[in-house]
Amino acid sequence: MKARFWGTRGSIPTPGKDTVRYGGNTPCVEVRLHNNELVIFDAGTGIRGLGDSLMAGGESVKAYLAITHPHWDHIQGFPFFKPAFISGNEFTILGAQSRSVTLRQMISDQMDRVYFPIQLSELKAKINFHPLREGSIPIFDATLSTLYVNHPTFALGYRIDCGGRSLVYISDNEPFDRELARSVKNVDRMIVERYSRSRGNPNQRVFDFARGATVLIHDATYTPEEYVNHVGWGHSHYLFTLEVAARAGVGKLVLFHHDQTHSDDKVDEILTKCRKEIRSRNYQFECVAAAEGMELDW
Ligand SMILES: [Zn+2]
Ligand SMILES: [Zn+2]
Repeated sequence: MKARFWGTRGSIPTPGKDTVRYGGNTPCVEVRLHNNELVIFDAGTGIRGLGDSLMAGGESVKAYLAITHPHWDHIQGFPFFKPAFISGNEFTILGAQSRSVTLRQMISDQMDRVYFPIQLSELKAKINFHPLREGSIPIFDATLSTLYVNHPTFALGYRIDCGGRSLVYISDNEPFDRELARSVKNVDRMIVERYSRSRGNPNQRVFDFARGATVLIHDATYTPEEYVNHVGWGHSHYLFTLEVAARAGVGKLVLFHHDQTHSDDKVDEILTKCRKEIRSRNYQFECVAAAEGMELDW
């Protein structure tokens, strides 16, 4: 499997001189399975660059686009994804949906005439929508599994298993706390129930989901100090991110969804602290910070 990062930033694009190395585009990860089949995680602004690279390849594209959730930073690049405008291409959009809004609406509403000049129905590529809940489905010759993670109002984590290799992508996720869950109103009650039901550490279902993954890409938005002022916002501090990787026994951890306020130097500092923590706790996994243009091959 291979992965290439086209967008690593959380919440809002952050172009500028302070974010050149880790990148300012919002989440998008290109994944290639062993026969080069394409699976895309999220359609943040990074997907524009991926689209241009696919167009340069000149061939028709058939791919899955797995959306974690419909917050802006995970869908806002879709209207600028050129391959969606080309007939002969085919995309199957995967993601969860709520009782009030379908998966199709989550993508199409941002292209409503009020906000955007081109409507979803005008795109020339074949666009299929496949709503998901928790479970597993076959894609190409791999298995794609999903887990509801702890994020307002809901979000999915994804796992791909293919030929003994695996990748877990959990872009937005907050450590679940039972006390806090009672007071936080904007998390879907279904998610609160799922996490509250578990005995012991309610985050165990996340650890189990990521169990033994070759590569884990996980939310590392905040420092522990910053997290104190952002409880309930749906994101992790890096100590929790390290805990997920350690308890799941992954091979490599990729810190992802960098905070909008973090410069390249700040991300370097966080990575250095994470590596120090890993050594002092004798954790056995490698740790890198996601950077635009970074490629992994495993
Ligand atoms: Zn996000
Ligand atoms: Zn979000």
